[in-house]
Amino acid sequence: VSAGLTSLRGVTAARLTDGRLVDLAFADGVVRSVRASSAAGSVHGTPVGGCAVDAAARVVIPGLVDAHVHLDKAYLLGLGEKSRDGRATGFGVDAAIAAMAEVRQFVDRETVLNGARRAIRTLVRNGVVAVRAHAEVTPESGLAFVEMHQQLREEHVGVLDIQTTAFPQHGLTRSVLSELANAARTGAVQVVAGCPYVDEDPHAHLDSVFELAARFQLPLDLHLDFDDDPCGSLIGAVVDRTEAHGMQGQVTIGHVTKLAAMDEPARRRSFEALAAADVALVVMPATDLYLGGVGDPGSVGSRSLAPIDEAASAGVRVAVTNNNIANDFAPYGNGNLLQAAWLAGLIGRLHGPAARALLLDAITVAPARILGLPGHGLEPGLLAHLAILDTTDPDRAVFDAPAVRSTVFAGSLVEYPEMPVDRTTLEVLA
Ligand SMILES: [Zn+2]
Repeated sequence: VSAGLTSLRGVTAARLTDGRLVDLAFADGVVRSVRASSAAGSVHGTPVGGCAVDAAARVVIPGLVDAHVHLDKAYLLGLGEKSRDGRATGFGVDAAIAAMAEVRQFVDRETVLNGARRAIRTLVRNGVVAVRAHAEVTPESGLAFVEMHQQLREEHVGVLDIQTTAFPQHGLTRSVLSELANAARTGAVQVVAGCPYVDEDPHAHLDSVFELAARFQLPLDLHLDFDDDPCGSLIGAVVDRTEAHGMQGQVTIGHVTKLAAMDEPARRRSFEALAAADVALVVMPATDLYLGGVGDPGSVGSRSLAPIDEAASAGVRVAVTNNNIANDFAPYGNGNLLQAAWLAGLIGRLHGPAARALLLDAITVAPARILGLPGHGLEPGLLAHLAILDTTDPDRAVFDAPAVRSTVFAGSLVEYPEMPVDRTTLEVLA
């Protein structure tokens, strides 16, 4: 299913999150100007013909960016015998990994590819313009999923930027490590990924993936500290290696639910260390909350979601992500980043204008920086990536998790057949 693209001259009557009502004019996929909205609704009276979207004072935000998603696991819920509802094999992270491994035996390549394509359409419908996708590399699959992501990248040029990692979901065997190196060497992936908690020696795992990332000068993205035990955090090990390799600003850690279980001083020390090494933190409410917080009653006070407001206050870059969509890791995962931010705000008890700004930043500008995208935002000179939300009140953009009415990728309105756009807002200018 290919997307329909309509090149736009701009968006009129857009409500920015700072309350201004503006007209945005585009040229060559880039925001050319942002000016106080004219009553006439035309895009700055520019003489060239084309289409403009009248946002009718609705809130317009920069295009959403998902810094952590698994396209090759999407929409596979219930396809394995033991995976139904994620319960038959027990509950928690290990059970979800086992259930997904079992699902792999039941599904063919086409099913996985169709799930990934459906996930992409869902993400785009929800305003997403760029993702970092973790492509699973295991002894059984080799680079098959990395190659699938190359196909997905090519299929969606001009619709969604897909950055791919090579992700060792079941640990680093000799063959997996060599496949990761192949993927990095050939440019099949843009990021090296790691998952130290699945290996017996997590420090050796970290050594290997850091060495690989440094050798090929690629960013590193780690699934880390994904349990409710406040002890045994690998944050220090990550920070040490980040500094030793001079990789400040290039390393991202995901989940890190241990942070929610730690006492406040330990958490503060962790955040200070992460900020000093400029290691970014990404959380994924739909998975972290579903799989976590079920063990030791001593950790029940924790909600299995790393506190992003504390992290941001300490100077850590934070993003809120989808992670998984409709599988054993996240049956409630639905590809909706505004809802993920809503959930993070609710669980974190975030309040006040600064916290609302943080939540919106965590699904737009902050993850764009994690992906290393060029500047991201509604400013002249930047790519015209944006989402028009079904609300006119900037505060409700966080509280309501409003529907996305239109997704604009590099100045083009993106439409799928099952994603009808309200054409009454689309005005063809003479
Ligand atoms: Zn993940």
